Amino acid sequence: MTNDVEKPLYLEQYEALLRRLPERHPKYARASADYQKYAAGFQGEENLTYTLAMLNLHKEAFIRRGLRLKSVSNDYYFQIDLLIVTPCFLYIGEVKNYSGELLFEPHYGQVTQIKGETTATFPCPLQQGRRQARQLTTWLEQHGIKQLPVHSHVLLANPRTRISAEKQITDLYHAALLPEILDSLCLNHTKRVLTKKQIVGLEKLFAKENVEGTYSLLEKYDLRPQEILQSITCPSCSSRLLKRRRGGWDCTACGSKKQLLHVEALRDLALLYTDFHPLGMYRILLGHISVNTARKLLDPYVTVKGNRRSREYKVVLEKFQ
Ligand SMILES: [Zn+2]
Repeated sequence: MTNDVEKPLYLEQYEALLRRLPERHPKYARASADYQKYAAGFQGEENLTYTLAMLNLHKEAFIRRGLRLKSVSNDYYFQIDLLIVTPCFLYIGEVKNYSGELLFEPHYGQVTQIKGETTATFPCPLQQGRRQARQLTTWLEQHGIKQLPVHSHVLLANPRTRISAEKQITDLYHAALLPEILDSLCLNHTKRVLTKKQIVGLEKLFAKENVEGTYSLLEKYDLRPQEILQSITCPSCSSRLLKRRRGGWDCTACGSKKQLLHVEALRDLALLYTDFHPLGMYRILLGHISVNTARKLLDPYVTVKGNRRSREYKVVLEKFQ
């Protein structure tokens, strides 16, 4: 059984943005508040990780988190928070990080959140989960895998959230109940529908077809690259007075010497999905370096377009590994 959880890309993107955006920038406060909100959501995901470690699954079963797949028939993507593949059935978990008290009214397709003095209404996640189950079933059929039993449930990751509903909703519960729920699903599904070979093939297929969102924070906050990375800064004294000297960076304020400052700065730029830019922009970002130095420093990390006169460069995240 494998259980792959790593820090999601969007949190890394926010961390890059907050590292590079000056604190006095008018958009810093909003970006910082948004980051706190997403980081809290990730905490809920971490609680779920703890629960998943307790599952008593078949030895061939595997778990995928945050799967994003492209529908074969149209250009839409659908996302599955939690997918458990067993030899006898598939389990989809729609994971919610709501807090406060929740009143579910699935017949109206709504959920109302009561938090202190405030109430807010959202679309009911039960429908969302069922839609994902249909999308996944269609996707699997298009990849040659047919007639699998699929269970789609909504999990609340925050153990202090209070659930209420007029009558019991069997496919909605706290994530901590997942081990018991899966045990009972296993008891009810004893007929094998996937061979060991098919399960191995499916795990590979998901790894291959998973598409991470290319979500540009520069677009979201309407920022230009120049605003987030005016030039590289000294990690010892935060000074921007760095000089490129003998293959490294010398800080003229505190005298410290570093080798790879430009790599960190360019990787942050790649995380933020900047577009193609002429060499001149990178020369300014990296503290007014020469054309030749800029070309040499950029070379391992960029793709290039255009002819000799109008050449443009784009930093690519995959090249930083
Ligand atoms: Zn310094």
